[in-house]
Amino acid sequence: MNDISPLTKELFKLPKKVNTTPLHYVRRNRILNALLFYKYFCYKISKLLLHSYTPSHESKRYLSFFLSLFNLVSKLPYQPKAQALQNKDFVILPISFLTFNWDPFLPNTLLLSANKLNKELQKKYNEENRVLTQVYVDFTIPLRVIRLSDKPNQNFCHYMIATDGAYTINELTAKSFFEKSKLTNNIAIRSARFFPAHGLFNIRFCPHCKQPFKVMPKKITQMSLENLNGIREIFLPDPIPMENDFKVISTKFRNTKIFESYLSGNPDELQCPYCDHPTYFEDTPLSVQTIFKFDEPDFLFTLKVSGFSEFLKSDHIIILGYSFPTDDMTNNYLLELLKATPANEKGTKKKRKKGWEEEKKEMKFTIIDYSSHLLLTQKVWYGIEEIENILKKHPKLKERYPISLNLNAVKKLSPNYRNNVRISFYGFPNILKKVSPKSILKFMSPN
Ligand SMILES: [Zn+2]
Repeated sequence: MNDISPLTKELFKLPKKVNTTPLHYVRRNRILNALLFYKYFCYKISKLLLHSYTPSHESKRYLSFFLSLFNLVSKLPYQPKAQALQNKDFVILPISFLTFNWDPFLPNTLLLSANKLNKELQKKYNEENRVLTQVYVDFTIPLRVIRLSDKPNQNFCHYMIATDGAYTINELTAKSFFEKSKLTNNIAIRSARFFPAHGLFNIRFCPHCKQPFKVMPKKITQMSLENLNGIREIFLPDPIPMENDFKVISTKFRNTKIFESYLSGNPDELQCPYCDHPTYFEDTPLSVQTIFKFDEPDFLFTLKVSGFSEFLKSDHIIILGYSFPTDDMTNNYLLELLKATPANEKGTKKKRKKGWEEEKKEMKFTIIDYSSHLLLTQKVWYGIEEIENILKKHPKLKERYPISLNLNAVKKLSPNYRNNVRISFYGFPNILKKVSPKSILKFMSPN
């Protein structure tokens, strides 16, 4: 009780003996300021880590994992029939990613891997194949994108399409073949869903028009994972820039909008691509794993609902580094909804219903968490009951080596969790030292 502030003690005279957990009363704005500081602190730490990070085997491992992922799951039918372009199985790749990290490293790895695959597909493409398949990373909601390399007078913006957009483009391609419309299109899009449930450092939310947008340093084709070119620059809009930021801004980003922001003394200022209203670091919607969710903008809630409803259509969900903490109630509740019957999607109700119900029963979950304890790293995959048994036999394990994984929440993911949920404690990407990407992607029951 010593950690209650003197003021709180005076306001709430607590009885001498309190058997229940004491409540701590703190003013709302104080928590908001503390949370904002915490978010900025994490931003700075991620930035510093990325700066001191030498691209090595680690980043190559990441890239090769996602490349093999796209190659494996896309199993691109070389001449996809025009009729099939709007099928769910064609449009939505069977694997979705769920992350609770704010760091843009993972999403960018996905984007760059997809880009690399697309280049290969473009090389192979010839007129005979007629349809050019391309894989897009889909954040489950359509997002406008601003590039830091954009010039101040640039009056167009970039988009990231979501699944709806993919269906529209594929419909146009199918029509160009069937109806021989004047508007011809030959691109067929397959989408790999990536869902950052807690927000990302490079997604902002305009306080004026209430629209979310994504910040990218430059064109994806100009970025590289091997030397982190274009990934470090994500952290340029910073209220307290580092010495190196000024160097990068004045050499590589001269005469851009971000250059002007630096000149005007507001280095984290970025204009909203919808209404031109200025936005700042504090307009980055980041969800903190706590019950204090009151400062979350509607956008994060929309993202969650839209993301989770998209996830309902997945065959296999890979969850990286999330331990389902009990105080993260919204997410745990939404994860529970994965079991519930989803609303059918507009327009494709009949076609999908049957396939969807069949797949629902088979929905698989791979959870990659981290623990260094010997008992939990004797093999790659554990089932929930196995972990429970280990904890029963070694009750002290939970105290001495806290296992953060909330098994009760994990159980709720699938009615048949014995066969459909597997957990590894090797962490990502360390697990890639132990098993091939193929065995991560191909779900095998842990039992
Ligand atoms: Zn706006």
